[in-house]
Amino acid sequence: MTTLLTSPTERHTPSIENHSPLAAACAQLRSASDHLGFDEGMHAMLAHPRREMTVAVPLRRDNGETTVVTGYRVQHNLSRGPAKGGVRFHPAVTLDEVRALAMWMTWKCALLDVPYGGAKGGVAIDPSKFSNPELERITRRYTSEISPILGPAQDIPAPDIGTDEQTMAWMMDTYSVNQGYTIGGVVTGKPFALGGSLGRPSATSRGVVHVALAALRSTDIDPETATAAVQGYGKVGGGVVDFLCEAGVRVTAVSDQYGAVAAPAGIDPLALRAHASATGSVVQCPGTSEIDPEDVLTADVDLLVPAAVESVLHSGNADRVKARVIAEGANGPTTPAADAVLTERGVVIVPDILANAGGVVVSYFEWVQSNQSYRWSAELVDERLSARMSEAWTGVTDFARQRGLTLREAATVLAVQRVAEAHRLRGLYP
Ligand code: GLU
Repeated sequence: MTTLLTSPTERHTPSIENHSPLAAACAQLRSASDHLGFDEGMHAMLAHPRREMTVAVPLRRDNGETTVVTGYRVQHNLSRGPAKGGVRFHPAVTLDEVRALAMWMTWKCALLDVPYGGAKGGVAIDPSKFSNPELERITRRYTSEISPILGPAQDIPAPDIGTDEQTMAWMMDTYSVNQGYTIGGVVTGKPFALGGSLGRPSATSRGVVHVALAALRSTDIDPETATAAVQGYGKVGGGVVDFLCEAGVRVTAVSDQYGAVAAPAGIDPLALRAHASATGSVVQCPGTSEIDPEDVLTADVDLLVPAAVESVLHSGNADRVKARVIAEGANGPTTPAADAVLTERGVVIVPDILANAGGVVVSYFEWVQSNQSYRWSAELVDERLSARMSEAWTGVTDFARQRGLTLREAATVLAVQRVAEAHRLRGLYP
């Protein structure tokens, strides 16, 4: 068995801040286990990934040379159903990062009560350094290597950072060709023409904005007069800007991987989208001025939405955050040290496993539609997504109030409790 670089059962003493997502995920689980009074055995069952694969992915480059990249798939927990989670193409992907992201998927699925365990995959590449045909070959070989553990009843990938609908189409095709027939339910986030769901592309952003608005209202901030800053303008951040503006929130600062822009009177979302589609970046959007990307996190706004990568809010900047509400569009954007500082300062943090769960909720709807070969209308998808997000928001906030917990603690405890219950009911084999 692989030894975890960060032992999942270890207790972390945050003397020097550890920015590792796995350390954060393990610390959150430890605190939930302690709150629930679990013994070490149950804690170990919840902490250890059930199954992990590391694969070498050989690639024939367009110039004829061969190179080998590394891919991973981690199935953290399978107690409540098949493993579910995205596939990330990013140079910083490591086995430990994938383990953390897989654990968060387990809690996210349990919290939203979708019948899945948690998984995550990744390939350690910078997709911008590869041509489209090369990305297709990487995707197909990676899929083929991990296909023994994939399947609509085993493990269902979806897009994440650096992957999209096309990646899912290639994954679905590779898996289906190897099995000998078309199996749409093996991935979600597919193109609509291949059985993708209406509403899936915007689902994560819609969910983030749904709970962000609820959090603003619960803090007595009227969304119509509120301001917001959004870090990231990709699949999640882009939609968040649009839907916040639609709700009357003034978005005054936005960043992407190339830079950041600000407009105190509010950024025009249509101009921003048009500029980003034309140039590939938010930088130099008409009507905005350039700012330091780090200043987006500390902007003088009511709401901050980090919608990029992990550990961007840490002990070095948490005390300078001015927002009263943070809705975590990204997975793991706040380190435990920053979480403590922000909580102490009274900032309401809607945790990732609640805030960005809209994506996996509609992935579940897509999987149901694929398995039944029956499409739902966009209205039905939206209505059911809203109902799930509202129910989870109310469940988490009520529980937090009853137990005197932060929203992250409450969400994690609720989710961990559900997974533990599944373990108990299923029992231990043999
Ligand atoms: N990658 C997304 C997430 O982190 C979606 C996962 C899914 O739909 O399976 O939640």
